[in-house]
Amino acid sequence: MSSTKYILALDQGTTSSRAILFDHKGAIKQVSQKEFKQIYPRPGWVEHDANEIWQTQEQVLKECIKNSGEDASSINSIGITNQRETTVIWNRETGKPIHNAIVWQDRRTASYCDELKAAGKAELIQNKTGLVIDAYFSGTKIKWLLDHVEGARELANEGKLAFGTIDSWLVWNLTDGKVHVTDVSNASRTMIYNIRDLKWDEELLELLDIPASVLPEVRSSSEVYGHVSESIISGNTPISGIAGDQQSALFGQMCTSVGMAKSTYGTGCFLMMNTGEEVVTSTNNLLSTIAWQVNGVTHYALEGSVFVGGAVIQWLRDGLGILEKASDSEAIAKEVEDNGGVYFVPALTGLGAPHWDAYARGTILGITRGTNKAHLIRAAIESICYQVNDVVKAMEADTGESLAELRVDGGAVTNDLLLQFQADILRTNVARPTILETTALGAAYLAGLATGFWSSMEEIAGQWGLDKKFDSEMDADKAEAYTKEWDKAV
Ligand code: ADP
Repeated sequence: MSSTKYILALDQGTTSSRAILFDHKGAIKQVSQKEFKQIYPRPGWVEHDANEIWQTQEQVLKECIKNSGEDASSINSIGITNQRETTVIWNRETGKPIHNAIVWQDRRTASYCDELKAAGKAELIQNKTGLVIDAYFSGTKIKWLLDHVEGARELANEGKLAFGTIDSWLVWNLTDGKVHVTDVSNASRTMIYNIRDLKWDEELLELLDIPASVLPEVRSSSEVYGHVSESIISGNTPISGIAGDQQSALFGQMCTSVGMAKSTYGTGCFLMMNTGEEVVTSTNNLLSTIAWQVNGVTHYALEGSVFVGGAVIQWLRDGLGILEKASDSEAIAKEVEDNGGVYFVPALTGLGAPHWDAYARGTILGITRGTNKAHLIRAAIESICYQVNDVVKAMEADTGESLAELRVDGGAVTNDLLLQFQADILRTNVARPTILETTALGAAYLAGLATGFWSSMEEIAGQWGLDKKFDSEMDADKAEAYTKEWDKAV
């Protein structure tokens, strides 16, 4: 064991920048968090000020160390996890962004994506990148910036511009512009990275008209990329772990062997299953992506996202006004024995995986005179579980294996009724760990593995602690009958 005591994880999310100090047991010592501005220049457009992202991240980094009462020299290394796909381009000489960052949610390149589909590029892109053509990913955002920011193409052609996802942008700033890298998990979300050959794909770069000179070097998810500038903190602290947020959560949940999966229940639900060293090409509308590369071994994953998860509870609270707090939902739902035949399909912003229907809208079915607010709330909670079940079934169909256990995290997993129903419908155990900050923890683990703070994956896996396990209790016929009703409702 190293003489340093902590790993500092930087968790750069969509709405806030956070820094979390973890000790050698993987327990949280200190947390610091700052929100930043969301910028909506037009309907469907979402931007962040990249400078503000860096400033808030630097502030929480320093504040977290200060509030812990520890010295920077007690920090072994830094791990980074980040909102994925969000795109920054900056000038290598001045270090200044040429434009606001274009956020993953931004739809401005949707019509260009339609053109790519119409030109028959879907199969090529899925084969090389594991992704479906969508505005979500970085590639078309890079093209947009180069095409629309005055003088950008010329500067790019002269080699003066740098592109990065948020991890790259943070490393660049942490190292005072010395290091321009990303990791394979972030690269795999750009739609220009070949996940089989593990390199930027020349054919796709040409298709999207992106000069290779702007690209970061792609590295593994766990190695020393550089050291934090002494002007930020003293101690020559290594930066030694990087992974996109969902991949980092998969690692933090220690889903490190084939077939293990996690689901994060926040605003939406984000599922990922480790498929080992093989790319599994989905025939059920899931994405294939790189989970991480550690010790020279690349792991892949299948991914599926549900757009409206916990957000359905927010809608009951803010839209319908039948809930005061999200956390009241469990007690009220328990007032009734079951959903009373009510099914709620919360396609409030379309349906995500595996349905992918951007035009679908929500519906509530099966209302009778006996239906009350508790039935409706129960149906909403259950809708989260049915949607997750649909993604798990798609993963099982793609891999040909059935899931042994689903590890869960995110803000909504304090709801036991939700997790019990999830286990019942899935016919699989659902496991809630003691540490729910799995995203930051994953980055910490990746960083600490690279420096020897932790000796092996096995040592880390031994730290994963169970808070509560939910066994599937419902009888199989009943679960199947319920699921059939849900399918009909969808
Ligand atoms: P995000 O990171 O996406 O902002 P969080 O992980 O903080 O989300 O989770 C917040 C979401 O969880 C909200 O949509 C909220 O409605 C939902 N939520 C919080 N507590 C509960 C609960 N007890 N039961 C069901 N949903 C909940």
